[in-house]
Amino acid sequence: MAELEIRVVSMRREGLLVELGRVVYEYGYALLRQRLTQEARGASLIMVLRGPDERQLALEDALGTHPGVLSFESIPYESASANRATFIAGRKRPAALARASAATFTPVATGADIASVERVLPNLAREYPGIFPLLIKLGHALHPEARDASLYLAGRRIGRWVYRRDFELGAKLGLADAIKRVALPALRKLVSTEVDNERLHIRDCPLCQTGGASGGRFFCGFIEGLLAEPVASPSLFVRETSCHGDGAAACVFEISC
Ligand SMILES: [Zn+2]
Repeated sequence: MAELEIRVVSMRREGLLVELGRVVYEYGYALLRQRLTQEARGASLIMVLRGPDERQLALEDALGTHPGVLSFESIPYESASANRATFIAGRKRPAALARASAATFTPVATGADIASVERVLPNLAREYPGIFPLLIKLGHALHPEARDASLYLAGRRIGRWVYRRDFELGAKLGLADAIKRVALPALRKLVSTEVDNERLHIRDCPLCQTGGASGGRFFCGFIEGLLAEPVASPSLFVRETSCHGDGAAACVFEISC
């Protein structure tokens, strides 16, 4: 069982707890306590949750990419519990504990169709590495406004799964090492890929056909998912700087952290 303290900031306060509570419940977690306050940057919600270890990452991805969430932070409750008294009293926790936060990221995608992604994930895992027909089908089935965020979410989830299945080393790596030892070999099982410093070049990407919609958001999520654990940086970020779909020779992904 995992115990987590989740902190989110949202633009709106109305319905926030109900909506996020529903996501929490969907992933088999129980809400032990919560506190909702209004801050200058938006509504701040702290939730203490307990639920199955194996669904923790899925829950964090679902909450972190929820359309109502501006920023998201997840802390193992053991670390947070040292500060439980001040949490209940509603005071700010010490800076040292804030720095110890295990997993912090600001979602770059909102509006993913989580249910559609969840449905296709078991098939993607079963067909891996032959996943492109399924991803192309998913891309067509999604509402255009949800397409990029959903492909990104699917990429993140598959990336984390591949890392755990094929690469879990237990050691933290520098970014350049992690790209060479994890991202490059994983990508080469799917597509023709070359590395150039902190950039990856993908040739003939099956998701980015000339004149069609770009599937680059899938690879941004996939690379972030692969590198999230070995690099362990809250600012890890991947963006596609040129795309075969727009006529470039290759899709280029720039990785920073
Ligand atoms: Zn592309």
